[in-house]
Amino acid sequence: MIQVLKKTWRQRLLSLLLPILLVFAMAGVEMKVPVQAAGNDAGAQTGEMKVHFLDVGQGLSILVQSEGKTMIYDGGDKKTSRFVVAYLKEQGVTEIDYLISSHYDADHMAGLIGCLNVFDVKNVISSNYVHTSKLYKSFVKAVKADGLKMKHPAVGKTYEFGSGSFEILAPAVIEKNGSNNNSVAIKLTNGGNSFVFTGDAEHESEERMCSSGVDLSCDVLVPGHHGSATATSWDFLQKTVPEYAVISCGADNKYGHPDKDTMDKLKSMEIQVYRTDKQGTITVTSNGTDLSWSASPCNDYTPGDASDQGTQVQQTEAQSVQGQVGQQTASQAAEGGKVWVSATGSKYHKTNHCGSMNPDTAKQETEAEAKAQGLEPCKKCY
Ligand SMILES: [Zn+2]
Ligand SMILES: [Zn+2]
Repeated sequence: MIQVLKKTWRQRLLSLLLPILLVFAMAGVEMKVPVQAAGNDAGAQTGEMKVHFLDVGQGLSILVQSEGKTMIYDGGDKKTSRFVVAYLKEQGVTEIDYLISSHYDADHMAGLIGCLNVFDVKNVISSNYVHTSKLYKSFVKAVKADGLKMKHPAVGKTYEFGSGSFEILAPAVIEKNGSNNNSVAIKLTNGGNSFVFTGDAEHESEERMCSSGVDLSCDVLVPGHHGSATATSWDFLQKTVPEYAVISCGADNKYGHPDKDTMDKLKSMEIQVYRTDKQGTITVTSNGTDLSWSASPCNDYTPGDASDQGTQVQQTEAQSVQGQVGQQTASQAAEGGKVWVSATGSKYHKTNHCGSMNPDTAKQETEAEAKAQGLEPCKKCY
């Protein structure tokens, strides 16, 4: 097991915020202290949460276990249905507290039918649209046979889960002819650690998540739609700012997933990459502060289709005005040999608003000065 003990920038931010929160608390101001802050401050009070990214070939299936509670988010395709059931049994699963079907495409839903048949399922969360496939009918039948009703929670709804919780991020709207964009997306939180799963949600749904006002920042993102270029927009990456991305796709899949565009973006932000097509099933355990992975990231940024040239130049041009302004600031800073340094932290940046840094307290100095102070270039902007 590999221990990652590095404090994330989010944790550093929280440690900065905590004294401020305490002042408010002492002044008798009633305010909600985030779960993360309490967890971090109190040390190892948060329980463990283990997330398994199952190798289901071209599909998606994620098992989450925490303090005796079980969640399965998608179950992969028909071909791997038996593997998923066997894997869950191996992990000692008998009951599933939350069975979440992101959407009704076979590569996500088929395996859930097996789970409904074998395990004692308590709650089914799914998307509020109807699919025309036979498989969808089988799914509906299996849910009914268990005496359950599908729940279609609204964006923002939060559920307690084991030592943490999960919040519904999407879908905000149901597209008539969309299946992927109707995906139920969630943010799973355990103390100071968090994960975002978006099923096959594409740019349109990502945009809605970005404008929902929900905090999308996370440690681990599963890039939508198996790393397809139709998902993982720049805006979404800038809102989620993950440290790690886990791509679930099949080796040599016919769609060429993951796309070069997605991999180029992840590479340019130096997001560490895990891939089920290269590494098989991957697990990570959160204790509320640190993540322990079953393997090192492969950081293989090659696309599924070797001939994929990507469209990064065009995409860069198409970025939002805000993004362009940010880039200009960045290049100006780089040209003048000046860099930005935040009030705390061990990195220097191209901009004064990288990640969660506070632009008001960041100061500019030369790169040489920053290096002399022992600061290193930020991986996200350099
Ligand atoms: Zn799909
Ligand atoms: Zn899919």
